[in-house]
Amino acid sequence: MWVGEQAALRETVERVADCNVPGKPASSGGKRPIARRTRVWPDGQGCRLPATKSGPACDRGAIAVPRLTVIDAIELARPDDWHVHLRDGELLRAVVGHTARQFGRAIVMPNLRPAVVTVADALAYRDRILGALAPGVDFQPLMTLYLTPGTTTADVEAAVRAPHVHAIKFYPAGATTHAEAGVPDVLACSQVLRAMQHHGLPLLCHGESIDPHVDVFDREATFVRETLPRLIDAYPGLRIVLEHVTTAEGVAAVEAAPENVAATITAHHLAYDRNAMFAGGLRPHMYCLPVLKRAHHRAELVRAATSGSSKFFLGTDSAPHLRGAKEASCGCAGIFTAHAALEFYAGTFASVGALDRLEQFASRAGAEFYGLPVASERVRLGREAWTVPAKYDVGDGELVPLGAGESLPWRLLV
Ligand SMILES: [Zn+2]
Repeated sequence: MWVGEQAALRETVERVADCNVPGKPASSGGKRPIARRTRVWPDGQGCRLPATKSGPACDRGAIAVPRLTVIDAIELARPDDWHVHLRDGELLRAVVGHTARQFGRAIVMPNLRPAVVTVADALAYRDRILGALAPGVDFQPLMTLYLTPGTTTADVEAAVRAPHVHAIKFYPAGATTHAEAGVPDVLACSQVLRAMQHHGLPLLCHGESIDPHVDVFDREATFVRETLPRLIDAYPGLRIVLEHVTTAEGVAAVEAAPENVAATITAHHLAYDRNAMFAGGLRPHMYCLPVLKRAHHRAELVRAATSGSSKFFLGTDSAPHLRGAKEASCGCAGIFTAHAALEFYAGTFASVGALDRLEQFASRAGAEFYGLPVASERVRLGREAWTVPAKYDVGDGELVPLGAGESLPWRLLV
């Protein structure tokens, strides 16, 4: 059972325990704008006195009445994924349909090998993505360039002119998969950053220190403490996204920063803490970068994502690697979540009674940050248990998705 589901059960038990007394207004917990609601008879669960024939009794001696409201369907503007890895070639063809089924648009990461560094590279990659979609699928890849030591202001200006290029991605050199081409010190890219600030082109940050002496669990906090403030101070108008924020320190920094600084949050960092990597043994499919963190960081991410703030929006960081590259003596970082990202997000939001804020997080805040229209199309999610496949075939290889073989309580109903 994943962490969000445990929290949901806890919350349900707590709400039932607060059983209703005639004359006392029912708790508003869990009541949200929805398409359909189901009233659930709590069946005496949580009451201290035994149930009677006329209904379950509560500890105040009064007869409890059914009052627990469970949302079992929600409708929202079609969401977008503001951070995804679609890869290339056979793997691209295997995964792009999953993202296109869930999302209308996606910011596509440029960390191919070789990296996507020019507008020409980005447009060629976009063509390959569109070519990998099934006929008639409506999906817009939003392209990014890879910031390298060779990136110039002319590259920035070309990106600004190109309608399909929306941002530049900064990888600290060597920080994660295919990050070798990145820059060791982003602040050294002063002319490029000035041009991006001038043109309003967002800088997407993989916010981790690459100092080998920094503990892997502290790399984001170190970047947030040592680099992000200098970046914000030096370029106060630069639009910055702290990608896949994973720590309380990252959340606090984004909340304290001006409006032009935002963050994406993944489904897996909301649903799991670092215990998931070591549950009963080493779990290579739960390994990603930035790595999963302690439970209190996860709690802060959930708070930020469900706060309704326009600074936090959906970015799955779905990062597929074939089974052989994950289950190895030196396994790759990355978790494939595109098959069920919305279901995981919905589970987390439901666990804290915040489904009414899922649309803001998944469909509105990111579009507003990027200056794009919110989708007019609607999608529905229902509380309908389903089992995630154990694997997806990719040529001769396999992809193991997040939650492989497990039952998820929410389902995207398209
Ligand atoms: Zn990523």
